[in-house]
Amino acid sequence: MNAFQLNNIEVTLDKKGANRYTKASYPVRNGRFCEIKTAEYLFEYNLNGEIKTIRGLNSNWPHPAEWLKRTDANDWVFYSVGRYHRLFSFLGEYYLPCLSYPSNSLWEYNPFGEFNVQKALAARSRLEADLRPMLTNGIPSRVKDFLGRISRHDLYTLRLKTEKLHQIIGGPVSVLPPDTRHVDYEVIPLMVADGCLYHCGFCCVKSRRSFHRRSEANIRRQIRELKTFYGANLGNYNALFLGNHDALAAEWDSLGMAAVEAYEAFDFERSHIKNPALFLFGSADSLLNAGDKLFEALNQIPFHTYINIGLESADAVTLSQINKPLELNKVKDAFQKMLDLNRRCLNIEITANFLLGDRLAPEHYAALIELIRSCLNRFYSKGAIYLSPLNSSRNRAALLRRFVEIKTKSRLPTYLYLIQRL
Ligand code: SF4
Repeated sequence: MNAFQLNNIEVTLDKKGANRYTKASYPVRNGRFCEIKTAEYLFEYNLNGEIKTIRGLNSNWPHPAEWLKRTDANDWVFYSVGRYHRLFSFLGEYYLPCLSYPSNSLWEYNPFGEFNVQKALAARSRLEADLRPMLTNGIPSRVKDFLGRISRHDLYTLRLKTEKLHQIIGGPVSVLPPDTRHVDYEVIPLMVADGCLYHCGFCCVKSRRSFHRRSEANIRRQIRELKTFYGANLGNYNALFLGNHDALAAEWDSLGMAAVEAYEAFDFERSHIKNPALFLFGSADSLLNAGDKLFEALNQIPFHTYINIGLESADAVTLSQINKPLELNKVKDAFQKMLDLNRRCLNIEITANFLLGDRLAPEHYAALIELIRSCLNRFYSKGAIYLSPLNSSRNRAALLRRFVEIKTKSRLPTYLYLIQRL
């Protein structure tokens, strides 16, 4: 670690954060990064010199353990820990991610409307310009290089970089699997398929395209270009998201090739962060159609794999009301297969999503509780159930109470699903 004092700012290069993701109620940094500390703020930059996090250091900041993080989609997320109680039981994390764009959160707090948060973002924009004149002073070349990298990554450049990322993979990722919370949503996206099988009426994240697999050549091109895109900061990733909405339907040929070749190309074995993880979405049909061989092969690759299945409801009338073209028996069979695979495959965790909404019928909730309680003889710690609040819901307090009621009865870990994009 190298610290250097420059006028009234302290620059630290090569900081080493934690080498695995942990659940904590205070800001834990992972991987390698560089830091600039002023009297008011702590700015952290990734190894490309792109701003990653900001934390206020004086009493005006909302809470000493709260921070802002910039995603690779150039969105700011405010990590709130000081405002709400029992967040872990709702989210499986000790913080509430407050997004700078509309999503399905049940909490109304908007830190981006707060003066001190706006001031922090403005301070960071100014910092890049303030650093430029200092580059001419006689400062060590390593510090000069780092500050030069930072000053080149201004607001405009970062926006262009996000456009480049979306261009490589074929568009923005409208939603990440809820399980990506285990790596703080820090995933490299790699598309193996587009579209989905159902085009459900209620869904606000779907694409209009019908399902089709990407060619091997397309996947290999993405891997090559993503490696260049992440550049010097690639070593700070240990997780891959195989997209898009139903990558499991792409079958083993595409999935296996993409996962194995990306693991090699991105050098996950030598990542600064241990425990490589693979995330993908699946559907009832793709889960039921996937044979044992796929799961046996997936269980052998050097990732811990999370597959998130959108089941939405275990009530036939609700499935029809939300325009999900899926028969009830498939929902139940997919759920049973999820339980079975979670017991058999050590390196795979299949999780399921169900809807939460104040206009859904009581039968939806009764059927859900029947499924996640009565079908199990005891509590199981593997195979989380995520309840996804519908955007059309008005009574958020009632939905939080409904969630607690379901969670209390569930024999699987149960959390809320807050939609994040990339
Ligand atoms: S819920 Fe899933 S399957 Fe249905 S339209 Fe949305 S992305 Fe497609």
